[in-house]
Amino acid sequence: MGKGGPRPELRAVLREKQGGRCCYCLIKMRICFSNSKRPDAETLEHLDRRADGGGNGRDNIALACLDCNTGRGSIDWLTYCTIKRGEHYEAGR
Ligand SMILES: [Zn+2]
Repeated sequence: MGKGGPRPELRAVLREKQGGRCCYCLIKMRICFSNSKRPDAETLEHLDRRADGGGNGRDNIALACLDCNTGRGSIDWLTYCTIKRGEHYEAGR
């Protein structure tokens, strides 16, 4: 162990809390057991980056789709939420 695995119990808790949706863009994520590159694959995301003082506690971790997780960069999570949801709503029109 000790390789920062997928933490299945934490994922299950978060999945129920978020209704299986990405914490940013709210799409329904797919649960992938391999290293999927699907943009809607479920991933664990640190809301406050460790560089910004974020820790590994449950309060700082949420499930995000791979697309959001990789695209966030250095934007803070609340701002990113707004951006992603705005884009999502516009795209749906
Ligand atoms: Zn997303």
